Amino acid sequence: MSDFVIAPVTAPSLAVEGTSSRFPIRRVFCVGRNYSDHAREMGHDPDREPPFFFMKPADAVVPAEGTLAYPALTEDLHHEIELVVAIGKDGVDIAPEDALSHVWGYAVGADLTRRDIQAQAKKMGRPWDWAKGFDESGPSSPLKPVSSVGHPEKGAIWLQVNGVERQRGDLSDQIWPVKDVISYISQSVKLKAGDLIFTGTPAGVGALHVGDVVHGGIDGLNEFTFTVGAR
Ligand code: MN
Repeated sequence: MSDFVIAPVTAPSLAVEGTSSRFPIRRVFCVGRNYSDHAREMGHDPDREPPFFFMKPADAVVPAEGTLAYPALTEDLHHEIELVVAIGKDGVDIAPEDALSHVWGYAVGADLTRRDIQAQAKKMGRPWDWAKGFDESGPSSPLKPVSSVGHPEKGAIWLQVNGVERQRGDLSDQIWPVKDVISYISQSVKLKAGDLIFTGTPAGVGALHVGDVVHGGIDGLNEFTFTVGAR
């Protein structure tokens, strides 16, 4: 038993659908602009840019259920519905054709974003962390293992707010599919079991307000519903 001077954190984790087992979360990687219609709505040319990444703290991932408080420091909280990949096997310099063997399972999550903070960071050439990595910024459904859902490469990805559709795309619209995303990340850092990857969002991102009911899903994978609570 190590002699820690304060209690060490328990690993943040996600539920595994239909079981009492949990998936321990190590790091959270996120892909920027991975659907061309969303890249365009953010004012970028999707065809010229290689993928880029940012991160969230592992404990930003929470169950996408119940009530999640409207975060501090923003007046423009945005929803981004995303396919979440759970890595089950370490690897470095993973070839795209081997990449899916590193996946343990999949979930559907939201990359919640303080858009006003992000816009200011972009303007001033500053990092995105404060826009992306706040508490409860990565709500996610339970995971489903590859053994039950395979590797979803197509299927509608959508998000409704108060019953009105805001976002709709298809996984097949991803500029960089999961195998390429895994390969790219593993060229930069050693990808480790427990890492999650939020793989980008289709067009239609927009503001959330206190009291909104957020319902998102990926057909054939999973869905979630949560309510935006008071600050
Ligand atoms: Mn995103």
